[in-house]
Order: sequence, then C-alpha cells, then structure tokens
Amino acid sequence: MDLLEYQGKQFFAQYGIPVSDGEACTDVDTAVAVAERIGYPVVVKAQVHTGGRGKAGGVKLAANTEECREHASNILGLDIKGHIVEIIWVESASDIAEEYYASFTLDRSAKLHLGMLSAEGGVEIESVADTNPDAIAKIHVNPVDGLSEEACRAWVEAANLNPKATDGAVDILMKLYTAYTEGDADMVEINPLILKPTGEVHALDAKVSLDSNAVYRHPDYEQYDASQPRDERETAAHEKGLQYVGLEGTIGVIANGAGLAMSTVDVISQVGGAAANFLDIGGGASADVMAGALEVINNDPSVKSIFINIFGGITRGEEVANGIIEAMGRVKLDSPIVIRLDGTNAEEGRSILAPALNDMLMMESTMLSAAAKAAELAK
Ligand code: GDP
Ligand code: MN
Repeated sequence: MDLLEYQGKQFFAQYGIPVSDGEACTDVDTAVAVAERIGYPVVVKAQVHTGGRGKAGGVKLAANTEECREHASNILGLDIKGHIVEIIWVESASDIAEEYYASFTLDRSAKLHLGMLSAEGGVEIESVADTNPDAIAKIHVNPVDGLSEEACRAWVEAANLNPKATDGAVDILMKLYTAYTEGDADMVEINPLILKPTGEVHALDAKVSLDSNAVYRHPDYEQYDASQPRDERETAAHEKGLQYVGLEGTIGVIANGAGLAMSTVDVISQVGGAAANFLDIGGGASADVMAGALEVINNDPSVKSIFINIFGGITRGEEVANGIIEAMGRVKLDSPIVIRLDGTNAEEGRSILAPALNDMLMMESTMLSAAAKAAELAK
C-alpha cells in the first residue's frame, strides 16, 4: 500500500520525524487559504502515486498569493506519468543547505533490514547507485536486535554528511527505523532529507509503502487502502474477491493459481502476444468464480481473446468444465475463448467441453499451443 507524500508525512510525524507544516487540498481557493494561514513562501506539491514530481513541474515554490494561485491551478489536473493530479499539498517552504537521501527497506536475500543513506540526495537514488555507488552508505539491521544509536551514528558518519547534520540525522534515522518497524512498512524513504542553513535536519519528501497484511494491527490504515489507485477493472475484480492485475495487452488471462497465471502471462509473450491482465481464480473454479472472472475480462475493451488455463489439482477437471459451460451461459462474451485443461480428471473435463466447442470456444492440448491460438485470435 503506497501512501501519498502528505499521508507519508503524517505517518512520519506520528513518530516524531520533523516535517513541514502543511495541508492537503483539492481546489485553488483552499490552497490559497492554506498558504495565507501558513505564511509565504510555500511549496505547492502534486500528490500522486509516483516520483519525479519536481522534474514534471509538480513541485513549485510560491512567494505570494498570485504565485500560489497560479501554481495550484497549473498543478491541479496535471498529468504526471499518467497520474492526473487531484490533490495538492501546500506546505511551508524550507531553506535548503544540503539535500540527502535516507531509506529503510527489506533486503530479502540478506534476510535483514537495509538502511541506505547518501549525501547525494534530491536526485533519484537509482542514478546515484549507477554513477557513484560509493556515495551510498548501507547498514544491515537484524530485526531481532534492532538499530542501536551507536550503529546508527557510525552509519551516518560513513555517509559523509556535513558534520553539522550528524546529530539531527541520527535522531531522524532512529525515528525512521521505529516508524518502519512498528508501523509495519515495507519501505520508508526520505528524499530529500535536508540540512537547513540553521543546522536542523528535516524530511522534505516522504515515500512510504505499508504492508497491507498488517492492516489488522493498524485499523487507521483502512483510510490508505481506500485511496489506493486502482483501475476500474481492478476495482470490479477486487469486489468479486479475484486476484487481478490489469496489464497493457489484448489477451485476457484466467488461470487457477498465481504461479500458473504468471507462467501464462510469460508464455503469451513468448509466442508474441501480450496479456491484458493477470487473474488468479484460486484453487476452485466454480461457475460463480468463473462467471465473475469472465465478466471482469469481458468488460475490458482491449481484450480480443481469452485464454483459460487450468491445471486441476484438488479441483477436478469435470468441475472446471461444468463451471466454464455454466459461466458462458451467464455472460455474453465478445471475444473467443481458448481453453487448456490439464491435471486431475482432465479427460473427463475435456469430454464435457467437447460438444460445446465452436469458433467462440476452442480447446488446445498444451499451454503453448493454447497461448499461440489465443495470440493469433487477438491479432
Ligand atoms: P519529487 O520530485 O517527486 O521527489 O518531489 P520532492 O518533494 O522531493 O521535491 C523535489 C525537489 O523540490 C526537492 O529535491 C527540492 O530541491 C525542491 N523542494 C521541495 N520542497 C522545497 C522547499 O520547501 N524549499 C525549496 N527551496 N525547495 C524545495
Ligand atoms: Mn523526492
């Protein structure tokens, strides 16, 4: 669950990390009213689920009412990498002496938390990693031991920040680690973490991704789930309890099991096609589930063919076949279906499907040939 910057800053503030005073708003007049309350200069910042807002014109300093009005109206409605700005955050502008980078995330291969700190902040950390990897100081933290202030200080010293920033950075990073662990985040990033000319260290941006499996421990996280960007197809699928991810291609995919669904997407691209979605109907393949899946896919105008890839395990072939036939009776389909049915009782399933086959419902004996057929039909 990715938070917007202002939500991330509110999250940080709960853990005592210094952030600027600000307010989120959705229209120009409110933005101006907020700026008058805070006092100029202010920064007007686009709130979208993507980075690089500064470069895209989504972060602007305003010294007075006219500038605030101008920037707010330009930024609202702006398209930043396909994300249309509907919310802006107006905050008190900061004087910047230096810009740093700080983050915590999980290093899965090391099975430890990983902290990264760099004196080269403000820019994307990937480009620092490419051009000057030595400029990133890393620390591995064992979650059982936690982060000691001593280790944190050594890490900060290794990053070669301005010595004036050391105490402030240690304080913020200790709090950031607490926010990351106690807040059940997958990732917390401050870029830039700034040193002000006055010597204070301060979080100027916030990127936070929370573990959605931990929502039960933090009932207030429900609010973030509600504001997650989902395309219409995804919302409809989630309402039906389906594991669905929208993709860019033209072949609708239905598979039982996430692994099989992923392989299906791969095999489709191997034969020169492109999947329109990833859809895992899970272990069962009842008529209800199948009809729901077909409905979601059928409502996607970019879909030109549908590939149903089922490998029966506990679910038996004849149940799947009956489910497909019943579902097809309920949903009026616009695109042809190619089925591959294998696994437990596949023979029985295939003989149930055989009489129903026509140019809208085809069957192939292998996953590869079915993918090729679906790709051909999608052309
Ligand atoms: P991003 O481009 O999406 O990462 O947005 P940021 O919040 O990181 O802002 C981009 C850049 O705008 C920062 O690196 C700063 O250089 C600049 N910026 C943001 N807020 C302020 C501010 O309060 N004062 C000044 N002087 N610059 C700011
Ligand atoms: Mn940033």
